[in-house]
Amino acid sequence: EAALKASIALLQLHALKTLGSGYFGYSSFRPYQREIIQKVLDGRDCLVVMATGSGKSICYQIPPLVTKKTAVVVSPLLSLMQDQVMSLKQKGVKSEYLGSTQTNSSAFNEAEKGMLDVLYMTPEKAISLPSRFWNNLQAAGICLLAVDEAHCISEWGHDFRMEYKELHLLRDLLVGVPFVALTATATERVRRDISTSLVLCNPHVVVGSFDRHNLFYGVKSCNRSISFINELVKDVSKRSAVGESTIVYCTTIRETEQVHEALVTAGIKSGIYHGKMGSRAREESHRSFIRDEVRVMVATIAFGMGIDKPDVRCVIHYGCPKSLESYYQESGRCGRDGNCDNCTAVKNVRDLSKETFLLLSCIKSCGGHWGLNLPIDVLRGSRAKKIVDNNYDKLQMHGRGKDYSPNWWKALGGLLIAHDYLKETVRDTFRFVSVSPKGVKFLSAADKIDGTPLVLQLTAEMID
Ligand code: ADP
Repeated sequence: EAALKASIALLQLHALKTLGSGYFGYSSFRPYQREIIQKVLDGRDCLVVMATGSGKSICYQIPPLVTKKTAVVVSPLLSLMQDQVMSLKQKGVKSEYLGSTQTNSSAFNEAEKGMLDVLYMTPEKAISLPSRFWNNLQAAGICLLAVDEAHCISEWGHDFRMEYKELHLLRDLLVGVPFVALTATATERVRRDISTSLVLCNPHVVVGSFDRHNLFYGVKSCNRSISFINELVKDVSKRSAVGESTIVYCTTIRETEQVHEALVTAGIKSGIYHGKMGSRAREESHRSFIRDEVRVMVATIAFGMGIDKPDVRCVIHYGCPKSLESYYQESGRCGRDGNCDNCTAVKNVRDLSKETFLLLSCIKSCGGHWGLNLPIDVLRGSRAKKIVDNNYDKLQMHGRGKDYSPNWWKALGGLLIAHDYLKETVRDTFRFVSVSPKGVKFLSAADKIDGTPLVLQLTAEMID
């Protein structure tokens, strides 16, 4: 046992060296990487749930370099494997992939003889390889079997893949080989499914933080889709001009085509990607985006898994994503290289107490039984019949909010709802807005002294 411990310690030391050596050139491990590598080297199964861009890949790429045994990586997409293999080869790591339809016999032979450090394969390939292949490879040495994008195992996940369900068959063929399941998103239920389906044995479970510190999330509300498209074109055009890449997610193929056309009409080179396109056209489109031949990709969620362009600077959702989890995944395709919108951007925060006072007191004076539009019209000095009939034109704050557009006030209203100063109630299909207890407290404090500042982060429409 002492000898085993000593050799494990030696392996771990090697792991550290490998990290900084010619292969990767990093100066230190990121959170959890060392821990996971250590466990894998100890022969333990692992279940790794870490955010996109957190550095999961080296957790299965370093052990083969340390142990001189092959790491087998099951990955769902050919394009993803191609990119990874290319990048590993550039680093001097011997790597190949086996796809389901591909007949690259030299890769197959090298793989079988254990000559590769990292061998990628699709799940279809993994379950269809003859047991002779696995026996030969195991005789040559396998240090781990990694299942990337492991949430595909679960029907509760957002990318269920039937073939992933069969991967447990490899367990019997690869006795004693640690299995490492990795994913960026997995609820409790999905985690349980992964563990059960792969028959993980007392796995070491790592659940990292889901917070993507470097991403800035914002909401832009627009009344008419045509004005939204115009704004979007303006925004994307600015980004393209300075070489920044953007993905625009649309909810339907029709919208995808509309937005794409609007961008092309405006002279912006734009890629398009959706499920009705042939696989060759999709591949071309993907490649032109990866190679920066186009700076913007307009797509449905078919442009999904395996999009690991590290320098995507902006993801726009033109319409609502399917679920919070999908939103996390899709928006998470931004900033994989780490660069940061929250620490480099000028923080658009401002003292909004004066404006908040006006909006809250106007909503209160109007009785709290309207939506946001009417109090905003009052602030902007409207003499519409409804306003005059209710004597709201006699209110002290009537016309005092002319300096800002209705959209600006609406955005402030949204902020104040989010921060609990306003309460939104839905009755039938109508939304009523009233001042919440926190808002009442703010109003009375603002009345007594000349106000505690209310500093809030401005939304996109308040800045423009
Ligand atoms: P994930 O698979 O979790 O989405 P990756 O493995 O693709 O993330 O890593 C994301 C980025 O972080 C890559 O550009 C990778 O080179 C970089 N990276 C990974 N580990 C480290 C490290 N220890 N130090 C610096 N950069 C790292």
